This record gives sequence, C-alpha cells and structure tokens, in this order.
Amino acid sequence: MNISSISFDGDMTLWDFHQVMRRSLKHTLAELQRQRPTPRVLNLTIDEMIAIREQFAEAVKGKVWNLEEIRRGAFERTLEHVGCPDKDLAAHLNAIYRKHRFEDIELYPDVIPTFDILASHFKLGLLSNGNTYPERCGLDGRFAFVVFSQDVQVEKPHPRIFEITAARAGCELTEMLHVGDSLENDVMGARNVGAPSVWLNREGVPNDTEIQPDYEVASLAEIPVILGL
Ligand SMILES: [Mg+2]
Repeated sequence: MNISSISFDGDMTLWDFHQVMRRSLKHTLAELQRQRPTPRVLNLTIDEMIAIREQFAEAVKGKVWNLEEIRRGAFERTLEHVGCPDKDLAAHLNAIYRKHRFEDIELYPDVIPTFDILASHFKLGLLSNGNTYPERCGLDGRFAFVVFSQDVQVEKPHPRIFEITAARAGCELTEMLHVGDSLENDVMGARNVGAPSVWLNREGVPNDTEIQPDYEVASLAEIPVILGL
C-alpha cells in the first residue's frame, strides 16, 4: 500500500451518533410532553419518533438532501401522528433537538490520540453521510478535506462520492485509505473504487456478509500500527 490520505467516516466511527441522537430526542420529547400533555403525546416513544423520521427520510430520498430539513419535516410528521399538527411547535422542537444534537456530541476516546499520531504523516479527511461538521464536534482544523453527502448530493456507497473525496484529497483512490464502521457504505463503497479500507468493528460483531475489508480493527488506535508507524 502506498497511502497518502486517510478518509474517515463520522457517525459511529468518530462519535456515537445513536447515543447523541436518542438523548437529543429524549429532551425533545420531554418538551413536547410538557407543552401538549395529551394521552397520545404522553404515550409517544423515542422509537416511534425514530421510525417516523426514517419513513419521512425514505419518502423524500433523492429529493431533499439537507438533513436538518429532513429532521424538521420529521417533527412536523410526528406532531401530525399524535394529533396536534403545528409547524411552529415543530420548529421549536427542532431547535431543542439541534442544540443537544451538536452540543452534547462526544468523540470516542481513541479519536484525538490517533489523529495526533497520523496527522504528521497523512492527509486526514472526513467523508460522511451525516451532518456533523468538524466545528460542531471539536474537530475544527483537524481535516485537510471534508465531504458531506448532503452537500454533494450523492451518498456512500456510491462510487462518485469516493471519487470526489480523492479529488479533494489530491490523490488517487488507490492511495486513499478509507476507515468506517459500515461494511456496506464504507468498506464496499471503498472496494468498488479500488480504495483500500479499514472496517472499524468496535463491538466485535461477526461479519456475515460477503464484503471483505483489507483490515479489521476494534479501535482507531490500531490504524497507525497497520500503517507502520
Ligand atoms: Mg458510520
């Protein structure tokens, strides 16, 4: 391998997105229940809210790319679902969600120490289907290149987004190591364009797919070792 750049996935690779998303929804649901304490609202669950957001995202897939717009639309659908449609309340709930979603985000403890080792040897980048920009999570100034699907309107695992990323990194795809937690989006996406890949498997789950990463690690701290540092 002749690696010059490393692209990192964001959600579940650099930070625990599921945890911060669920916590933010919990604050939002509490505010909704305070404002509209109807039986239907008091019975609403976070899992239902997640399901409504997923359904809405699926319905607007390819048409609406901005994830905050999708989230706000999902709150509007949620209020309709519980029998109190109200766009202003949806916007208020969205503001509460957004505040916690970005202020409460925490990096995994292996991120900064690993970046500190890698940064003087490789160009580091972020390639995300999410919307946590570096300045929203304490990683401002850490990346030489940043690509978000909502900005380029193509998502991992599509080859085009990997091509865009390598172009921004200023290297060939074969020289860009991609690191991520998703076998489909990260590992298969990278493989399809000839980029080497690292599957970050923090929980040690079995790989029951046909998708084979070049490397599998349980922690980002193993990456410098793979690269001979
Ligand atoms: Mg991920």
